[in-house]
Amino acid sequence: MATKTYARTISDAAVTAIRTAPQKKMQPHILYFCIYSNNTYFYPFNFKYQNMSNELKDLQPQILWKRFCDLCAIPRPSKNESKAVAFVREFAAAQGLDCTVDSVGNVIIRKPATAGREGAPGVILQSHLDMVPQANSDVRHDFNKDPIKARVDGDWVKAEGTTLGADNGIGVAAALAVLEAKDVAHGAIEALFTVDEETGMTGANHLQAGILKGSIFINLDSEEEGELYIGCAGGMDALITVPCTEEAPNREDRAYKISLSGLKGGHSGLDIHLGRGNANKLLTRFLWKAAHRYGLRLSSMEGGNMRNAIPREASAVVTVPASETAQLKNDAEEFLTVISAELSGVEENIVFTVTPEALPATVMTASSQNNVLNTLYAMPNGVIRMIADKPDVVETSTNLAIVQSDGKQVNIACLLRSSVDSAKDDLANAMTALCALTGSNIKLNGSYPGWKPNFDSNILKTMKQVYRRLYRRDPKVKVIHAGLECGIFGKNYPDMDYVSFGPTIMHPHSPGEKVNIPSVAEFWKYLTATLEAV
Ligand SMILES: [Zn+2]
Repeated sequence: MATKTYARTISDAAVTAIRTAPQKKMQPHILYFCIYSNNTYFYPFNFKYQNMSNELKDLQPQILWKRFCDLCAIPRPSKNESKAVAFVREFAAAQGLDCTVDSVGNVIIRKPATAGREGAPGVILQSHLDMVPQANSDVRHDFNKDPIKARVDGDWVKAEGTTLGADNGIGVAAALAVLEAKDVAHGAIEALFTVDEETGMTGANHLQAGILKGSIFINLDSEEEGELYIGCAGGMDALITVPCTEEAPNREDRAYKISLSGLKGGHSGLDIHLGRGNANKLLTRFLWKAAHRYGLRLSSMEGGNMRNAIPREASAVVTVPASETAQLKNDAEEFLTVISAELSGVEENIVFTVTPEALPATVMTASSQNNVLNTLYAMPNGVIRMIADKPDVVETSTNLAIVQSDGKQVNIACLLRSSVDSAKDDLANAMTALCALTGSNIKLNGSYPGWKPNFDSNILKTMKQVYRRLYRRDPKVKVIHAGLECGIFGKNYPDMDYVSFGPTIMHPHSPGEKVNIPSVAEFWKYLTATLEAV
């Protein structure tokens, strides 16, 4: 899902410091104990962060949840994972395990096979260290500094008004737990912790060929317990700029801020087929009509702030002739009724407001505004095609994620996804054709391949057998309409046998993110049983 692929995600200085810091060889037999007091959590390697919730530590399997707790205390938004890299690296030192950190901050920890399993194929357990930083607008949270306030709510663990980071913190915690576990039989383990999965796949894109020795690759980054993923969609970013010329507004006009919020949003791959509202598209619909009916003029517009999330909120500053203010408010009420009816059963908390605003210094010229609103209105959005022989799986989709105007132009970011590369290119061409019509520029970048499903994979066979033995039924085998790093690893490791699975996580990439506690226990049971069976 590369928007802008940065060569390094964490600062050079930080990487050099981490890589060159003397690796303290910890004596595994010396028991390290952690001091729990008032939620302050001290690691022997003087790693301390406020830690939120003891109730999480009491969850089972404790060996996994305690690591997830640690991660909740570590700020790790995409492209700022240095603290998480340091934590994992020091964890390896504390376990007396071999550890390497590559030039972009990917960490690999190696654990030898347990007794009698030396002949087993080597297994890579892969997860990503970064998390999506999303908070509700009424929550003040600095994702570069503040810990995640995780808490138990029935069968779920949630955060308070922010993303939880179970995507992919539970995967990271599971891999650390396997490295620490003394009671799990397994062949040689390479635990790979990548950086910047969410905003550019930087870690996956930079992992060098020949570093990993194993032959089985288990990705721990999918989000439905009981489902095995053997394929995923590729992606590409379309960055569109619509040039704008501005002029002074009519001094007689009235100015308003029009805001739409309360939508569910969600993951623009996993949730794109759920028919949720896209705040940018809905607001455009209203503005386009008002502009054509009574000369509404657009001064600025913005909506969405995550390239891989369905936008939940959007707003615009506009001017209308004084004689049309009542019409504008009537139209806004009517519009809310219309879209609430259209989206009923899916979106129940839509808020659409028109509030007086100071007259802006400038508005877009009529022709610029036309280009902007026509581009946004005509831009493809949502599901384009389902997979023919798998009618419940999306093949190709696009999400109009971000709109931002800066006076000189309007920037639009869309994320295209498809498990068929040619279909993705076709969609990109259609967008390019539209931009040609409205005098807009389009840049397509960060394209990454999908992960082609191999239904005859050995690890798939093994995991089906293990699942049948554990649960007396078959696991669901699926292709996911989202980006998994497996598609990219396939470039440098084409012969690896890939599979992905994980616990049940709902509403990833949004403040509603939550992980199901019983599914984590099943995820752990299935993972350790699989390692013993490989
Ligand atoms: Zn993830």
